[in-house]
Amino acid sequence: MGRGTGLHSYMRALTKGRTPEEALLDVPGEHRADADSIDLSTLPPLSSGSPEVGFALSLSDCSARVLGVDMDRAGVRAMRTQDEMGMLLDWVGMVGARSLVVVDWKFQRQEDLAPASEHWQLLTYMSAALLAYDADEVQGFLAHWRYGRWEWDSVRLDWLGVQAHLADVRALMSRAERATTAYAERREVPPLRLGVWCDWCPAKRQCPAKVGAALAVLSGEAGDALKSRSELTPERAGELWWKLKNHALPALEQMLRDLESIARTEPLPLPDGGSLMEVEEGEDKVVAVVAGDWLRRNLGPEVAAEAVETKPTCSWASLERAVRKHHLPMLLAEWEAAGRLGRKPSLAKVMAGLREEMLGVQVAKRATWKAVRAVKALNG
Ligand code: SF4
Repeated sequence: MGRGTGLHSYMRALTKGRTPEEALLDVPGEHRADADSIDLSTLPPLSSGSPEVGFALSLSDCSARVLGVDMDRAGVRAMRTQDEMGMLLDWVGMVGARSLVVVDWKFQRQEDLAPASEHWQLLTYMSAALLAYDADEVQGFLAHWRYGRWEWDSVRLDWLGVQAHLADVRALMSRAERATTAYAERREVPPLRLGVWCDWCPAKRQCPAKVGAALAVLSGEAGDALKSRSELTPERAGELWWKLKNHALPALEQMLRDLESIARTEPLPLPDGGSLMEVEEGEDKVVAVVAGDWLRRNLGPEVAAEAVETKPTCSWASLERAVRKHHLPMLLAEWEAAGRLGRKPSLAKVMAGLREEMLGVQVAKRATWKAVRAVKALNG
């Protein structure tokens, strides 16, 4: 189970009324510390709302309807009509007679998330929820992982705020329609702006701006700038690095992959006389277990031990398994012994002891994470 899926099932378990300790058991060991570190104190109790609520929003008549709870994206797509926008909200709850709370978990490690007040996806979700429930006010929360910890960001919208946001969405949709027609009729490409949003863009493989950034690298823009370093301001250097890392290199890698897939069906002649083509390759690899067995049988254990090195490995999952396997029986034995002396603690106390041990392991994991030093692009 991936990190996002694991954390989603943690939150889903909380909405079903399970305690954080119980919900943590649903999360794979390697993501448990991340789930445990989510501070839920700013939210209303999750069990007072519903998870994975599907909505259909109609921009033309400014209305919305609830499609169901505990849904998935395929279900939402199947139930919305042609002129409705389908959406799936992570959590929706009523807080008072006519007031709503909406939460959108952003479990990928995203440093560059737009603030809640400018986050169009969240604002559109909130608008749909307010209209569907006929509420007066909605508060939206974005929960996201930023610079090594969870952060909450929130925004409130009333009915007027929702109308203003939906007017912006309608304006955007008609700009997009006009741009689509201009491209279809005159091959006119609209002005494009590269940014962090490109990661989610379905057109990124064909985007002219990305291809343009890659071509600028090929035509020497970056090389020329680096040659005349005295004229390279920190801002220009930062901009070049960002363009290279996030747009030019991925676009070039994509072009390579696309060309290689052509070469799979038809060999491509190369300027150096060679060709790019699909070949079958096998790796002549020593399999440690087989080699060790053979050496032990034929040349003796000493030769085998010297030739086949074994590297110690330890994953968080195996560590947790071992602690559970060896520590739980010991705690239960202590419980039994205490019982014979007439001081039998509750089993819940024994389990709490085990959980404390696991917490120690999780804290150690966090400490390990802190010790990692890496050069990263940070956005303030
Ligand atoms: S990849 Fe191109 S089209 Fe897509 S968001 Fe980025 S600039 Fe716009």
